[in-house]
Amino acid sequence: MSKKPMIASVWLGGCAGCHMSLLDIDERIVALMELADIGAMPITDFKLGGFPMADVGLVEGAVCNTDNIKFLEEIRAKSKFLVSLGDCAGWGCVPFMRNFFPLNQVLEHGYIWSSSTVDGFIPDDKELPRYLDKVQPIREFVKVDFHIPGCPPSADTIFHVVHELVSGRVPNGIPQPLLHFD
Ligand code: SF4
Repeated sequence: MSKKPMIASVWLGGCAGCHMSLLDIDERIVALMELADIGAMPITDFKLGGFPMADVGLVEGAVCNTDNIKFLEEIRAKSKFLVSLGDCAGWGCVPFMRNFFPLNQVLEHGYIWSSSTVDGFIPDDKELPRYLDKVQPIREFVKVDFHIPGCPPSADTIFHVVHELVSGRVPNGIPQPLLHFD
């Protein structure tokens, strides 16, 4: 029996909305599973086995810190075909909004001045990843083979692209009815 293609996905600096949309393919996941295996998703524990060698690697989220860079480079090295999933991965989207302010100001607002915080402080431990001065899309760090736009992309769009890829076809763009940017 020939080996099925492997799909794996990760979540960097994003809100999980793109993965929620991926889950919205609902029962069509059965059709995908007939064609491919799913090796890792944010709901699995990477510490158990790490990111697998994948035919299709899906990346949600922008690059916000040093751990994101390390992880992204590993994913690139292990993915034959890398897809940026959604606008955070594609151009920065919501996390990118912090780029309008100096990093220190953003951290002070998040950890000290937010109305729910008492005696706040900015965490600083060597085990914590370092924030990048500016949030960046993943293509600034690795080669991206395909981008699915949208915040989030619709389940139909994600299914279309992933189904094409695991069927051995590289989509020639995204059909107009499936294309949206909201
Ligand atoms: S593109 Fe939108 S839905 Fe996807 S992770 Fe970013 S903010 Fe969330």
